[in-house]
This record gives sequence, structure tokens and C-alpha cells, in this order.
Amino acid sequence: KDDQMLVESEKPKETFADVGGLEEVKKKIRMNFILPLKQPEVFAAYGKEAGGSLLLYGPPGCGKTFIARAVAGEIDANFMHIELQAILSMYAGQSEHNLHDIFEKARENKPCVIFIDELDAMGGSRHQMRQHHDRMLVNQLLLELDGLQANNDQVFVIGATNTPWYLDSALRRPGRFNHLVFVPPPAEAEREAILELKLAGKPMGSLKLAKVAAQTKLFSGADLEQVVKDAVDCAMERTFETGEIQPIRQEDLLAAAKARKSTTLEWFA
Ligand code: ATP
Repeated sequence: KDDQMLVESEKPKETFADVGGLEEVKKKIRMNFILPLKQPEVFAAYGKEAGGSLLLYGPPGCGKTFIARAVAGEIDANFMHIELQAILSMYAGQSEHNLHDIFEKARENKPCVIFIDELDAMGGSRHQMRQHHDRMLVNQLLLELDGLQANNDQVFVIGATNTPWYLDSALRRPGRFNHLVFVPPPAEAEREAILELKLAGKPMGSLKLAKVAAQTKLFSGADLEQVVKDAVDCAMERTFETGEIQPIRQEDLLAAAKARKSTTLEWFA
């Protein structure tokens, strides 16, 4: 079938140790996804259901996708990344089938984390025909989420959106995405932690990352990653000039930060 979309599953190597900051988010995920797998008897004793689904919301580039991959890495699970736009663009009927197939595949590959990006795309259409189509897909997703709850089959769903206010209200009701977690922009200490993670293992002089963190207000994790890449390029340029491996310098980082005219989070400030 031409319209069949196969979502590949993979095993991410990232773990929580690779994610800078986001302690509250990690705690919530540990409590709901990770500990139930590792210590099911504790959860059973309290009659608490394990697993299910979690909705991450927050500005772009602050780690929603990254932490979802790290969840899979933490529990040695498979990871499937679904871009909702691609499913929505299919013929009516076909998109529901596809969503169902994806959940089936996840069950066959359990434990499995299904990451659904751009969740707000669903239910956002103004065109009447599309609206009906969207609604069918929302209903299918609700069915799949209810099924997970009932069977506790080690399939975890993490949804993500930059614009939770556009989300179909049916998805926000209790029992659906039962945990809503804000993934905030990194504060100064978190920016320092992210810089340190992205620089780890690279040749560098003695850096004062706290200073760089202080100069990168409104930078997202993605922006900071780019700053490190630009600084690496400077050090490599010197390396090629001198013929010897040159360390990344404080000035490289500060210059790279300064050169970024705008950052992702300025729109949200
Ligand atoms: P979008 O809403 O645009 O999909 P997102 O919140 O899913 O954005 P990610 O794709 O997770 O953002 O982040 C982009 C990149 O930025 C990641 O690949 C990662 O390298 C880096 N990054 C973001 N936040 C963090 C963090 N807290 N710790 C480490 N790296 C981070």
C-alpha cells in the first residue's frame, strides 16, 4: 500500500545523565515510568497504575524530544518517533489504521516509548472536511490510550506540544494524557550544566562556564548546543592553522553566543 507509513523503532543511547537540568521533569518520569518497571511490587501494594502517558509542553528546543529519547535509554526500551503531520496528511481512514499499526508494533517491541510530536496539529484544522478527519484520528488515539491503561503492556506514550492551548480538549481530560509536565527554558544553572554536557570530552582550556551561562539569557538547549558547535569550529580552524590540536577557549564560546542575533526563546519572553 502506497499510503502505508512505517515508523522505525530504534534504541536510543541517551540517558537522563545526558539531559541538563529538568530535575522536576525527570522526577515525574522516574515516578511514573521507570520505577514501576523496576519495582512493580511497590506500585501494586498501593494499587497504583504504572505507565500510561505523559504530555510534555513548552517552548521549542528545550529538550522535549531529547528527554523522551532518554526515557527509552533509561529503561532500555525501543523508541518510536511519530510526526503527527505526516499521519494527518494521509487519506481519511488510512491515518487511523496507521496509528493503530504503530501501537501494535510498539506492543510487539515492548518495552517501547512512543513519542508523538506536534500533538497540537491534531484538531487544529479549520476546514470542515479536515475537521472530521482530525476528529477520527483524535478518537483513534483516545482508544489506543485507553487500551494502554487497561492492559499495562509496557508501552509508554509521550506527547509533545509547543502550544498546549491549541490541543484538542479531549486529549487533556483525566485518564488520557494523565500527566502534564512543563519543560521550561533553562535557567542560568541549567544552561551551565547543558554547556558542560555538550563540551564533555572535547579539547578545552580552563573555561568559566558560569560566565557563559550568564551571557546566554533566553538561550534554549538547542541554542546552547549550537554555541558549542560554533566554538568547536573556531578551535578546529586554529588547529588546522597550527597543525596541533587546539583547545576550545572561553572567547570562542562568548563570541559564538554574541554572534547569535536572536534565540528561540526571545519570542516567548
Ligand atoms: P521542539 O518543540 O522544537 O520539537 P524540543 O523541546 O523537542 O523542541 P529537542 O529536540 O529535545 O527540543 O532539543 C533540541 C536539541 O537541544 C537536542 O537534540 C539537545 O541536544 C539539545 N537540548 C535541549 N535541551 C537540552 C537539555 N536540557 N539537556 C541537554 N541537551 C538539550
